[in-house]
This record gives sequence, structure tokens and C-alpha cells, in this order.
Amino acid sequence: PYEHMLKIREQNIAPSLRMYYKKPLLLHQGHMQWLFDYEGRRYLDLFAGIVTVSVGHCHPKVTMAAQKQLACLWHTTNIYMHPSIHEYAEKLTSFLPDPLKVVYLTNSGSEANDLAMFMARLYTRNFDIICFRGAYHGGSPYALGLTSIGSYKHGVANGIGCSTTMLPDVFRGPWGGSNCRDSPVQTVRRCSCSEEYLGAVGICSDYCLGCVCHANEQYIEQFKDTLNTSVPKTIAGFIAEPIQGVNGAVQYPKGFLKEAYQLVRERGGVCISDEVQTGFGRTGSHFWGFQTHDVVPDIITLAKGIGNGFPMAAVVTTKEIANSLAQNLHFNTFGGNPLACVVGSAVLDAIEEDNLQKNSKDVGTYMLLELAKLRDKFEIVGDVRGKGLMIGIEMVTDKDSRHPLPSEEINQIWEDCKDMGVLIGRGGLYNQTLRVKPPMCITKKDVDFAVEVIHTALEKHMG
Ligand code: PMP
Repeated sequence: PYEHMLKIREQNIAPSLRMYYKKPLLLHQGHMQWLFDYEGRRYLDLFAGIVTVSVGHCHPKVTMAAQKQLACLWHTTNIYMHPSIHEYAEKLTSFLPDPLKVVYLTNSGSEANDLAMFMARLYTRNFDIICFRGAYHGGSPYALGLTSIGSYKHGVANGIGCSTTMLPDVFRGPWGGSNCRDSPVQTVRRCSCSEEYLGAVGICSDYCLGCVCHANEQYIEQFKDTLNTSVPKTIAGFIAEPIQGVNGAVQYPKGFLKEAYQLVRERGGVCISDEVQTGFGRTGSHFWGFQTHDVVPDIITLAKGIGNGFPMAAVVTTKEIANSLAQNLHFNTFGGNPLACVVGSAVLDAIEEDNLQKNSKDVGTYMLLELAKLRDKFEIVGDVRGKGLMIGIEMVTDKDSRHPLPSEEINQIWEDCKDMGVLIGRGGLYNQTLRVKPPMCITKKDVDFAVEVIHTALEKHMG
């Protein structure tokens, strides 16, 4: 069937969809953190369908909930009531702090970000939006205007700080270094300023850049500069990922986002947290990424892990913002679909029952530390960074220049890992960062296996 499928792909499937690996995988089954191909080969999935399979492939509880609902009612749309949407909205918001209590259900992260931007503009009656370099907020025309990873801009942009956006009134904030050449070293290291220690090893689990480079003031000055020069009078909103995902687990200096929120609010703007990758416990220390920055946004957007692979997404905002938009009819056919709501509910239950936030913290920290050993050993591992199960391994020619390792060389390492049974994601402006964001049910034993495989691939590369 393999050759036949490739032929269908060539003839009938959008060529813009790029597949991973020289010989793309033809997958057959998934079970928790494992994927199986048609030949029965097993792969440890460190990318979770692009950070989406949050609780595990075909998680029994989620599967059972979906099966039960499938036999009962699939779709009504929002013109009638159905218990599942009410139960879900109540449950989802019970995981959120006040005043984030009103839910809009959508179908994808892009759509959620489109809606969030629309809300910010309608609520504030202002127009300008600030986002960061290196951000990914989606591929729909509105959200693409916020995205500034070069390769997604269809050749109209020039990478870092790209000035050509789909929307002329979107401004890029100064921060969001796209690789470790442009941004401060973010690597996991011993630190002495955080309250949050991992006793035995003495490594700051809250991995805090502030103590590494004291760069916060400089960034805040740059951020102020952007606000003053680009949006001097009015601003509708500011959107940021708590950790930049597609850009390769790029983090902000400690305290930076909190100050940025303040500056935006002083100018009348609302703050949007794109939790599409960082939500649902993935960062380990908190359920939501914004909590790691000690802020409460006005609007959050959710997708990916929300449905463990089921296509659903959401925007959650305050009653005040929602009420101000009540006159503007907002509608989409599938949002709040009973199947999606039941799946979303089961995902929340599974995160709690399987203790997955804690697992993200424990196993994620363990993995960061194990990967940091590879960084210390291999010259081409320039940076290991992240939080919980959201990790980036940045590949460089050497630690001094920190130039991205050429693609062909990274590809070989990455292909070798796949051949040894470990699937890893890619990201960063130069596609130079290996992204590790597995289903949150991964174990320390799996980490040992994955690190061993990456170690072998790196050793082979170094000859
Ligand atoms: N925001 C972030 C942070 C994302 O990573 C993505 C997808 N990579 C999106 C938004 C867009 O989500 P979707 O692909 O579901 O439209």
C-alpha cells in the first residue's frame, strides 16, 4: 500500500503539505506515547502530532467517551441546547482563574486567534495589535498576520523581524529571538536566584533567564520603544505565547511578560495569551502557560491538546469583554459540537486522573537534565531549554559562533533517531531546533530510551 499511497499523495493531496522524513512514515496505530507503522515497527512519539496528543494516543477514557457519544448524537450546532457544551464550558472554566469564565468554541487554533484579535478590536475600538518576532499564531489570513516565522509567510517576508505582514496594522514587538544567536543563551543551567529549586541537582526548575543574563530591562526598554514608535496612541491588543512553540521552546526573560502586560494595559490594550501549545499542564509547574509568568490575560486561545487530536479549539475571555460583543453575532457551525465537547471533557478528566501535569513536571525536568548532559558533551548541541514537556534542543555548528547547524546535518541526526524508533519535531527560524513535546503520559524509562537514541545519533554524526 505504501507506493500506492505515495501516488495518491502526488495526484490528489495538496502538495503544500510537507511530510517529515525522506521516506515518510505510514502509520497504522497509536497507543499512549507509542505509534506503530504498518510493518509493526514501534516509535516513541516525542512530537505528539505537533503537540496535540496531550493525554496519549487513543487514551482509553477519551476513546470510550467519544464512542459513547458517537452512538448517541453527533451534531446539533448551536441553535439548540445539548448538555455536553454546558458541561464542558463549566468544567473548562473551573480550571481557569477569574475573570476568565466565558467560552467560545471554535475548530482550530488559527480560528481561535482570529476571533481573539477580532474581540480585542471590537472591545477596545482600537485597531493595532502587537505580537512578537518568532511567534506562530496560525495560518488563516488574520492569524498569519501575527505569525512571524519566515517560512510560513509565503515568501513575502524576510525572517527575523519580518516587516511584511498580511495586516499592515500588526506590529511586531522586539523580543522573540529566533535562535540562540539572536537571543540570550537560554540553556538549562545552575542558577542561584530562584525560589524553585530541584534540591539534589540544584537546577532552577523554573528555568529563569532573568538570572542568567539580567537582560530584562533591556528588553522592556525595547518593548516600550516599539509601543511608543509603532502604536503611540491606541492599541487593541497584545498577543504572545507563554513559551514560543514553533520557534523552538524560546522563553522570555523572567518578569518580562508581566511588565509587557502592564505597559499594554496602560495604553488601553487587552492581553491575549496563546495557550495553544502551553495549555493543559504541558509546562508542568502550572496548568496554563500564563501562570508561569504570574499574569492573568484578558483572553486566552486554546487548541491542539484541548482535544487530544480531536479537531476542536476555544477562546476564553472575561464576562465584560464577552458582554461588550454580545451584539455582534458570532457563529460557526461546528464549534461546541457534542462529540468535541465530550472529548474535551474526557481530556480534562484524564489530565487530572492520570496526574499528567505533575508527570510533565517530573518527567520534563528529568529529560531537560538528561539532555543537558548531551549539550555538555557535544559541541553541536548549542542549547537545551524549555519547561515541563516543552523542550527545544538547538543544533549549532559550534558553541562559540552558535550558527545553526546546516539542515542536511540536522536531517541526518533526526532521520537516524527515527530509524532507531524515536520521532522528534523540528522548529526554529532555520529549522535548527529539535522539538520534544511528547504526550504527557511519557515515562522516565521512555526518556532514558530517547536520550540514548539521540546520543547514538549525535555520536554517529561526530564520527
Ligand atoms: N498558536 C500556536 C502557538 C500554534 O503552535 C499553532 C499551531 N502550530 C496555532 C496557534 C494554530 O493552530 P491550528 O494549526 O490549529 O490552526
